[in-house]
Amino acid sequence: MVRRLLRAARSIVVSHAITLREMLHHPVTVRYPEVRERAPLGSRDVPVLKVNEGSGLLNCTSCGLCERACPTSAIEIVQAVDPVSGRRRSWPETYDLHYDHCMVCNICVEVCPFDALEMAAVPELAAYCIEDLTYDKEDLVDLWKTARSIRIHDGMLMPTRHPQAGVALPESER
Ligand code: SF4
Ligand code: SF4
Repeated sequence: MVRRLLRAARSIVVSHAITLREMLHHPVTVRYPEVRERAPLGSRDVPVLKVNEGSGLLNCTSCGLCERACPTSAIEIVQAVDPVSGRRRSWPETYDLHYDHCMVCNICVEVCPFDALEMAAVPELAAYCIEDLTYDKEDLVDLWKTARSIRIHDGMLMPTRHPQAGVALPESER
């Protein structure tokens, strides 16, 4: 009986000591949504379309590789066609990402041979309607312009000219 009482008393003292110690620590959590922490470098939330710095146009040539490689069929591309000649053009008329299908696997970025896709850190992509989770060409460019983005290719972080990427090109290549 005495031993059980001692054990209970010890447990009360230890648990209160732990509570007190944690109360004095700086919290690791933040008061979201009032406080929003910047996503760490390397965060990847959504594939986005990159704009060529020189031409101001998309790097995407509408080759369709990412569409075919995507394991969840999250990408839908319609290639542009010249209305006069009927010949296919090398840019996408529409480029839709069905983000509700996307599992952020990075395969589309890996297979793109034209450096047209990057992964952007946008942790708050949520919507009440599933239709609102389909992003068109303009949405994907806007996301690229406004969020920090990176490109991982063959497991390596590729240099980028994106102003918010935090990964600059070497001095010699600027
Ligand atoms: S693989 Fe690259 S260039 Fe080809 S359609 Fe996809 S984004 Fe465009
Ligand atoms: S990240 Fe993966 S799932 Fe998402 S669009 Fe690209 S290939 Fe498809």
